[in-house]
Amino acid sequence: MNPVIIAIDGEASTGKSTQAKKIAEKFDYNYRDSGAYYRAITLYLIQNNINSNENINHSILDNIALEQIYKDKKLTIYLNDIDVSEKIRGFKVSVNVSNYAKIPEIRNFVYKQLRKSVKSNSLVIDGRDIGTVVFPDATFKFFLSADPKIRAERRHKQINDKSVKLESIEEEIKSRDNTDSTRKIAPLKKADDAYEIDVTLLTIDQVFEKILHKINSK
Ligand code: C5P
Repeated sequence: MNPVIIAIDGEASTGKSTQAKKIAEKFDYNYRDSGAYYRAITLYLIQNNINSNENINHSILDNIALEQIYKDKKLTIYLNDIDVSEKIRGFKVSVNVSNYAKIPEIRNFVYKQLRKSVKSNSLVIDGRDIGTVVFPDATFKFFLSADPKIRAERRHKQINDKSVKLESIEEEIKSRDNTDSTRKIAPLKKADDAYEIDVTLLTIDQVFEKILHKINSK
């Protein structure tokens, strides 16, 4: 049987990874967080003082080894064998990642990692261009959207760090969505055949119910 691929694309901080993990758990599929690849690459480039407007080619990217291990409902991200799962969520990576994610060489590097992950495994992947570009033939495609204010409030509660202002989070989310949806290559957009869910007024469980209903009714 062909592996099942479930693409969960959408705007920043709409709960894509939460839903992707719940689906992976329900069906016992593997999980990949495509954004985490872009974040880990961004972390490496920042650490090595390589700016997004420099020529980022193979000779630089060849120094980067990425691995994602999904086990016991937990995703661990390794950058050159170091666990960077926490570090890639920091503010510095968040505000810079979209500028690095525009670069074609970086996108191709991530595509290779993602396509390698499938082999014969069924997979849930969250991102921005999974259903449009990376796996246009995915078995199921979802697209999550929500009011930026609500997304910022949810994220603010999650990070539980009062030194980070709600307004800065909202600004970062809007700015990332803007850069991601206006870039030339693989912009953030709903695939024509994706099922869109506006999660603004829904709980995590309500969104999950909608996703399950869609999957089970095919
Ligand atoms: O999903 P997450 O918010 O962690 O993604 C971080 C950033 O990585 C996005 O804002 C976007 O710039 C980039 N990204 C992308 N394509 C994907 C996933 C993420 O360009 N499929």
